[in-house]
Amino acid sequence: MKVFNTLTRKKEEFVPIEEGKVSIYVCGPTVYNLIHIGNARPMIVFDTVRRYFEYKGYEVNYVSNFTDVDDKIIKAAIEEGVSADEISKRYIAECKKDMEGLNVRPATKHPLATEEIDGMLQMISTLIEKGHAYAVEDGTVYFRTRSFKEYGKLSHKNIDDLEAGHRSIKVSGDLKEDPLDFVLWKPKKEGEPSWQSPWSDGRPGWHIECSVMSKKYLGDRIDIHAGGEDLVFPHHENEIAQSECCNGVEFAKYWMHNGFLKINNEKMSKSLGNFFTVRDISAKYDLQVLRFFMLSAHYRSPLNFSDDLMEAAKNGLERIVNCGEQLNYYADNAKTEGLSSDEEKLLSEAKEYVKKYEAAMEDDFNTADAISAIFELVKFTNQNTSDASSKEFVLSLRKELETLCDVLGIILNKEKEVLDEDVEALIAERQAARKEKNFQRADEIRDELLNMGIILEDTREGVKWKRA
Ligand code: AMP
Ligand code: ZN
Repeated sequence: MKVFNTLTRKKEEFVPIEEGKVSIYVCGPTVYNLIHIGNARPMIVFDTVRRYFEYKGYEVNYVSNFTDVDDKIIKAAIEEGVSADEISKRYIAECKKDMEGLNVRPATKHPLATEEIDGMLQMISTLIEKGHAYAVEDGTVYFRTRSFKEYGKLSHKNIDDLEAGHRSIKVSGDLKEDPLDFVLWKPKKEGEPSWQSPWSDGRPGWHIECSVMSKKYLGDRIDIHAGGEDLVFPHHENEIAQSECCNGVEFAKYWMHNGFLKINNEKMSKSLGNFFTVRDISAKYDLQVLRFFMLSAHYRSPLNFSDDLMEAAKNGLERIVNCGEQLNYYADNAKTEGLSSDEEKLLSEAKEYVKKYEAAMEDDFNTADAISAIFELVKFTNQNTSDASSKEFVLSLRKELETLCDVLGIILNKEKEVLDEDVEALIAERQAARKEKNFQRADEIRDELLNMGIILEDTREGVKWKRA
């Protein structure tokens, strides 16, 4: 399997640290607002990477954090007159709802920065002991960037160029030894959440959080560290510096970064105000459509969001889902059970599409080509199945289609949501049928509702219903 590694700027053969296992850390969102669909891109992309490793038989340990202490959270809390904790808890819960709608599976562990402060104090102390960090008189702790000889290796930046860029913006009164040094711990300002430390009552810098959570839940060395491409510098570069100086071993073998979701060819972001939240989109589309749209491009390519592309994704997804439904119908109504010899041949032909799909995914998770292979399988299925097909034949094709969709997190047989108003309408129809003494229809409706998971009770006060 080939994976593009930002560190080497090459597609490399994937070789796990431990055979049969993969450890993945994905930088998660800062929770001060509903997530926008740009934030959903890494969630969907790396959830798909995880699913493909599992499909290949790997045991995957997948960790993704929530950054729940940050300037933006504090600002939102002040604006609303509530605690920072209330803001972050609220938006973690909302984010989890969006993830569920997007069929992004919960991580093995979702650590919260605020629950990992002890580990951060320990790592900062180790960095100070080893001479890679220092505290200044106002209680700030800085990382001594030049003490890490490989600084710049991920973003392919030259440290002297960086220094030149910084020098021009050096602020007077700065207590840093060097403009390149970055914050590991900062003293609190009035009214901010804070924790005690040997240096000051304060809070951690953003970069140290991920180094610590990754170490605690995945170990000193991990297979894959991932996030959006804006995180390459400085966030991931700084994570490497902290982790490698503290642990003395290479931090992550492969660094994977997704391209940006754009709108009108500009990066979608909160600060530019040109974003849609996942919640906005869910009012108009099933979130499966958004997932399908995201996977219709290669994860490293920029992807432009537009109504046209969403409509195209909706239609494409429908074609696949309809094929699955047609196969269900044929399976339920098949007149023969076992495969005919022609069908046997067709099934081995169909395996070609699975091979194509796998080849696409093996090539740095090319989901765009993998989806093309699914469309080819759909076309083949539509052409070669009918009322006359055997049950085994249609069920085999269905299983194949379902497996390929499942790796992409696309649900073939999505249970239709049963809405209260649909239930009420059926109950009204049943009452009308009973009035007309059409008991057959009334019983049919009762059974139909039961199939939908709705139980009816005829009581003296009328018909009552509940979900099974
Ligand atoms: P943030 O909450 O800004 O730290 O972002 C959380 C994750 O979403 C990070 O991995 C970002 O790189 C990613 N991200 C933010 N905006 C976009 C975008 N427009 N397209 C793709 N990824 C994004
Ligand atoms: Zn991070």
